Amino acid sequence: MRRSFVLAFPPRPLLAAALTAVVAGSLAAAPAGAQDGAFRWPNGARAAVSLAYDDALDSQLDHAIPALDRHGIRGTFYLQLSNPAVARRMGEWRAAARRGHELGNHSLFHQCSGTGTDRAWVEAHRNLDTTTPEQMRDQVLLGNTMLEAIDGQRERTYTAPCGDMLAAGRSYLPALRDAFVAIKAGGGADVVPSMARLDPYAVAVAGPVNASGQEMIALVRQAAARGTMVAFTFHGIGGDYLSVSAQAHEELVRFLAQHRQEYWTDTFLNIMKHVRGEQAASQAASQAAPKSASQ
Ligand SMILES: [Zn+2]
Repeated sequence: MRRSFVLAFPPRPLLAAALTAVVAGSLAAAPAGAQDGAFRWPNGARAAVSLAYDDALDSQLDHAIPALDRHGIRGTFYLQLSNPAVARRMGEWRAAARRGHELGNHSLFHQCSGTGTDRAWVEAHRNLDTTTPEQMRDQVLLGNTMLEAIDGQRERTYTAPCGDMLAAGRSYLPALRDAFVAIKAGGGADVVPSMARLDPYAVAVAGPVNASGQEMIALVRQAAARGTMVAFTFHGIGGDYLSVSAQAHEELVRFLAQHRQEYWTDTFLNIMKHVRGEQAASQAASQAAPKSASQ
């Protein structure tokens, strides 16, 4: 049940399209930052990389966090707060947050749409098709309170379970915007095509499953060629489901640690605060420009 449960997210072929693009030589076509005008990453980095881990799984505490800590890299852990691994290992999640990792909101009960042949695993009492936006809002906001009790933080990001955006047929994410710096939801390219046009409340992710270290590093390089970002969403690391091996994960993390100048790897929260700041500055500049030109 749990295994088939996450096969639905992300709901599209992983990595294949991006790797095809790399092979086809599209990397050479776009100089760093060319599509985004004045958009800049901190300290001259060519791309930002977010490493995120969904559902609150044991293998993340056992394998992912030790690897990140070994290399001094910060990740984001989207806790499904009803997952037994949250209650059972509360002290470990709290300690991870103290070391700089982000604890993100992934809802209390992980409701996903039960529609479609790949959603037979959705339980009736956790079906997003029969949960209203108002119920989701109440629960997700309670999730923020619970997370604050764990890590003491007030700023938060959210990853929509299964990337689904409709509760009982209505958009439920707009009512959550005030409570979050950014939201991952919906589909899209593995590598963000444009930072200037990125909607902070509908960020697409790359969801590697059984990927090699080199395949994931290829996506990072593609983000650098575009001057944009790649937001990885993992599930199991060396265990659990939708897994990436501990070795492949280690290879990616080591690469990022060895190339810190080129790739800014940080929590999704820190990256998106920077993105929103750059977007606001660019918007202010474009509004001011015609005025000063006419004076
Ligand atoms: Zn999930």
